[in-house]
Amino acid sequence: MSRVTRQRLRWSVWALIALVGVFVLGLMSVHFALPGSTVALWWPAAGLAVCFLLATDPGPRRSALFVLGVLVSSGAANLVGGRPALVSVLYGFANAAEVAVVHGLMTTRARRPRLGSMDDLWRLLAATLAGAVVIGVLAGLTASVVLGGDFLDSASAAASSHGAAVLVMAPLGIAAGLRRVRRPRLEDIAQWVVVVGVTAWVFHQDQSLPLAFLPIPGLVWGALRLGLRTVAMQLLVVGIVAVTLTSLGGGPFAAAGRLGGIRPETVGSLTQAFLATAAVTTLSLAVATTQRRTALADLRSEVELSGVVLDTAASAIIVVDLAGVIARLNTTAARLLGAPEEELVGRLAAEVFPVANPEEVTARMAGIAGGTVPLHQEQDWLVEGLGVRHIVWTNAYLTDDDGNRTHLVKTGADVTDERAARTFVEAVLEAATATAIIGTDLDGVITLFNRGAETVLGWRASEVVGVRDWSLLHDPAEVDRRAAELEIEPGFDVLVHRVRGGAATETRDWTYVRKDGSRRTVSLTMSGIRDEGGMLTGYLGVAEDVTRRRQAEIALQVALDRERQAVEELTALDRTKSDFVSAVSHELRTPLASVLGYSEMLEDGAAGPLTERQLELVSRVDRNGRRLLSLIEDLLLNSRIEAGRLELEPRRCDLSDVVASAWTSVATVTSQRDLVRDVDVSPRPLWVEGDPAALERMVTNLLSNAVKFTPDGGRVSLVARPHDRDPGTVCLTVSDSGMGIPPADHERVFARFFRSSAANERAIQGSGLGLSIVRAIAEGHGGSVSLESAPDAGSTFTVTLPVGLPTTLSRQAP
Ligand code: ADP
Repeated sequence: MSRVTRQRLRWSVWALIALVGVFVLGLMSVHFALPGSTVALWWPAAGLAVCFLLATDPGPRRSALFVLGVLVSSGAANLVGGRPALVSVLYGFANAAEVAVVHGLMTTRARRPRLGSMDDLWRLLAATLAGAVVIGVLAGLTASVVLGGDFLDSASAAASSHGAAVLVMAPLGIAAGLRRVRRPRLEDIAQWVVVVGVTAWVFHQDQSLPLAFLPIPGLVWGALRLGLRTVAMQLLVVGIVAVTLTSLGGGPFAAAGRLGGIRPETVGSLTQAFLATAAVTTLSLAVATTQRRTALADLRSEVELSGVVLDTAASAIIVVDLAGVIARLNTTAARLLGAPEEELVGRLAAEVFPVANPEEVTARMAGIAGGTVPLHQEQDWLVEGLGVRHIVWTNAYLTDDDGNRTHLVKTGADVTDERAARTFVEAVLEAATATAIIGTDLDGVITLFNRGAETVLGWRASEVVGVRDWSLLHDPAEVDRRAAELEIEPGFDVLVHRVRGGAATETRDWTYVRKDGSRRTVSLTMSGIRDEGGMLTGYLGVAEDVTRRRQAEIALQVALDRERQAVEELTALDRTKSDFVSAVSHELRTPLASVLGYSEMLEDGAAGPLTERQLELVSRVDRNGRRLLSLIEDLLLNSRIEAGRLELEPRRCDLSDVVASAWTSVATVTSQRDLVRDVDVSPRPLWVEGDPAALERMVTNLLSNAVKFTPDGGRVSLVARPHDRDPGTVCLTVSDSGMGIPPADHERVFARFFRSSAANERAIQGSGLGLSIVRAIAEGHGGSVSLESAPDAGSTFTVTLPVGLPTTLSRQAP
């Protein structure tokens, strides 16, 4: 069974019980009706029915069913109570109509029945009254038409008996929904005893004194102290006691009936009037008390809340009354004023505000009543320990119910630090006179344009801030090109695309169009401006005019390109020259060999014997021819070295043979010279893997230098032997006692075409190629050449060669 079904079932059971109650109460009321009266003294059945509906609030359909039940049970009660059938049916109908009207009015617009305010109470009274009128009219009609009674008497009696019952019992139905707040205390018990006791005493059998007012104070006590629930219950109890005892002939109203001869209906009406009075009084008091209590609680929490709000506010808040006296202030304000809150409240604002001109404060305060205090105002406060603080105040008035100004509320924010920071930033912006700093909002509207921007772009800040789209400062064609690159629409977005996409900054060159139309190249670094929450609020561009720099860079590039071109041209020329020299040398070698051959034949007498003089001339031809051949060999070798094609042809050979051959050829050429010549060649063969021709060239060059640079009477020596310490190497030393080489030239002599000035001055023949070829050949064999020399102290060239072969013999030109 679902929860809803169970609830419905439970409701139906209770509804049945309530209807049985209605029947029983109705029967009792009929039974207890005063003798001679056509209507009952009290009709609690109506109250019970309304009470049940209000307590359960079951919705329109079940309410209607219940009302039908009321019709049946009320009719039955009347019938069983001895009333005629027709009367019973009509009374039943009247009862049902009354319940429907009261319940309907209490729950209009689907609101739950309540008793929380005076308005709710008025509604209850109105509903009760309407119900009373309905029952009054219907019952009156029934009584007068069917039973022949007096309409007015019957109507008023029915109305009052029903109305009072509803008024007394309906609150219980409403209060049934209220939660019980606390446990019963001694006071509750005492009050119950007093109320019930007094009521019982006032209405008891032998009591004839008019003391009907006496239960009221007890009920009031309950209303003021014990809440609506208790009051509702007590009203019912008082009602039952009063009615029961009155119908038994007790209490002031029954006594009045007996002694004063008033009619029974009037006795009933008086009893109902008593009950209604008691109900209205106590209910209104109870409602008002509850309302006051709730309002007080609300107020208290509101006051507490506003206190907390005030004290946690970062702004200073000061409330000043019409006389300029501080009525309230928060912690921040107290801190700025340098005194605790309680010391400041009650003092004149002009006395405690730490301003330079308190008279102005006095004057301002005088304007509170007239409403002439300005809305915003800035003040410098000299705060102890903090120095001068710049405070921006916002003023507002408090007014009373009649609209008169009663207080001024001053809310102040200390903006000293922000102002200082702003001044600093402004100073920085202004100081950057060569750097354009431009700020924009998210749409590209310029918000900042510093002095530097004015200089670079030629616009004044006032002409562009807030007016111009930043992209308009750019070369439109360039913006379009960039847009195409980024594949987006041309416009401001092009400039901030990367930053908007999340990049911290983006730096690139742009072309700016100045106000005068001229163009500048700037290096622009774009970044985003973000608020404290990290939300993008705008953009900041820092641009540097790099027109000159870029122009210089371009010029430099052009110059470099030109130089490279020149070098290429020269290299090509050099290669042509080398090729030319190489070709010429080749061409010269063959005829020269033929010249040398013929001169040799002449010397040998192949053309007949020569005279002394002829022989001398022929040998001179031979000597110079050999020198020329040597020069040609050097030129050819140099060309090969330059071209990186030394192309040695190594084989196992004895260095001693090579040295001897070189020695002989040099000796032939320089036989006329007056020199001491020493040769010290190892008697054992000096095997090396090498190109004998190249090695001979190397030794020849060294020897001919030694001879060339040593004056007559000097000494030239040649030593060839295994290395003293390294058995894998052989050493070849050529030394002389000649002019020597200054240390500064030691490295340079191995450079191609280097000739010392001394060599030039003394017209010593040479090409400047000899030593460079020596080094190339030594290194080509995996060896090296070194030099020891000093001016006029002779020179010693030492070549070391490995016995084995290096992995490769051909080497690049030096
Ligand atoms: P060249 O001998 O044709 O001038 P080298 O390359 O053989 O060219 O020599 C370069 C220079 O080194 C010479 O001009 C000379 O100044 C210096 N030099 C070479 N050998 C000696 C030496 N034995 N004594 C003094 N100077 C020398």
